[in-house]
Amino acid sequence: MNKLIASRIYTALGVSPGTRLALHEPSFKGTDALAYVTDCVSSGWVSSAGSLVNTFEKQLTDFTGAQFCVAVNNGTSALRLALHLVGVKPGDEVLLPSLTFVATANAISHLGAIPHFVDITTTDYGICPLLLDDYLSRTAWHRDSILINRSTGRPIKALVPVHVFGTPASIEQLHNLCTKWGLRMIEDAAEALGSLSGSTHCGLTGDVGCLSFNGNKLITTGGGGAIITNNSDIAQQARHLSSTAKLPHDWEFFHDQLAWNDRMPSINAALGVAQMEQIHSLLKHKRNIHKLYADSFVDVPGVSLLEEPKGTVSNYWLNTLILADPCTQTCIDKRDSLLTYAHNLGIQMRPAWTPLHLLPMYVNHPRSSLVNTVDAYTRLINIPSSPSLLQPG
Ligand SMILES: *Cc1c(COP(=O)(O)O)cnc(C)c1O
Repeated sequence: MNKLIASRIYTALGVSPGTRLALHEPSFKGTDALAYVTDCVSSGWVSSAGSLVNTFEKQLTDFTGAQFCVAVNNGTSALRLALHLVGVKPGDEVLLPSLTFVATANAISHLGAIPHFVDITTTDYGICPLLLDDYLSRTAWHRDSILINRSTGRPIKALVPVHVFGTPASIEQLHNLCTKWGLRMIEDAAEALGSLSGSTHCGLTGDVGCLSFNGNKLITTGGGGAIITNNSDIAQQARHLSSTAKLPHDWEFFHDQLAWNDRMPSINAALGVAQMEQIHSLLKHKRNIHKLYADSFVDVPGVSLLEEPKGTVSNYWLNTLILADPCTQTCIDKRDSLLTYAHNLGIQMRPAWTPLHLLPMYVNHPRSSLVNTVDAYTRLINIPSSPSLLQPG
């Protein structure tokens, strides 16, 4: 089984056995990244005052269809700002999946709020609307139109769906639930640049969407993130609070509230601008890689490939194998034996993140039953998906 999977990966990508394969490496092939960085350095405009930040934001609004974009220093900051701007306060609970990168929960905790974990579907691996609705009707009630967790007595303020591996979550249904229960919705679209539900870009159904441009993401600025939104108040506040809440003035330093220093520097935006010029070809490569894997794994027993749900477009950021076995120790052993085998060959693969409710800082946090989450953790394996695999030069 391990040998077969490894050989099908080599075949799909058209590389000879033994080729080292990274999970996802940044590529600036065929871009003007060096020229933009050089311009930045020789002009001296390297900080967030440089014009490339505006250029990058304009590219992102053009590409996603968002009315507003604010580029920041990483995706975690984008999430934290977004949560703050929809009114999440210390002591509030925020609903999120447990199967996500730790940043989703950390951003909540950094505000003094409490991550509250809910279960996912076994199709898109995002928050399950049916389970959520049922869970809330058993767990929460409204007091003066504020949703309260019956067992902790704390307000539940917001929902943070995550589009994992670029696969759009059931976002319309989740949005309807937010309306029904009176929750704000912030989408963690860190992995989902170029992913759509219907014709809506991930991140634009809720109040705010958060993107990441970390080194392993589809587009990278070394480190970076952004808020996208159609809400002008949120956009304005995000800009203000990410730059120390300083009022514009030629010489006076006057800050009208406590704020952060989160803006993206221009030297980082230089990389993003260069990559955004190639975003359509980058996405085409990702889709091709997915197609090659789909063809290569079609007759391999015991595994399937994560596909975009009907009515959505995935950016196929990370291709994901799904082991067929139900969640048992045998399945975990199989998974780990495959991971070990692949790593010894130099094929970088990894399981889904350890569910956050199992991490030391989150073990005692409120949560629903997380059966699907734990099941997914034992069965999902990300496989090499670098767009550079198909890029000439
Ligand atoms: C990458 C990522 C983030 C945030 O990332 P930064 O490293 O802070 O840019 C948040 N959520 C998810 C799901 C991510 O994959």
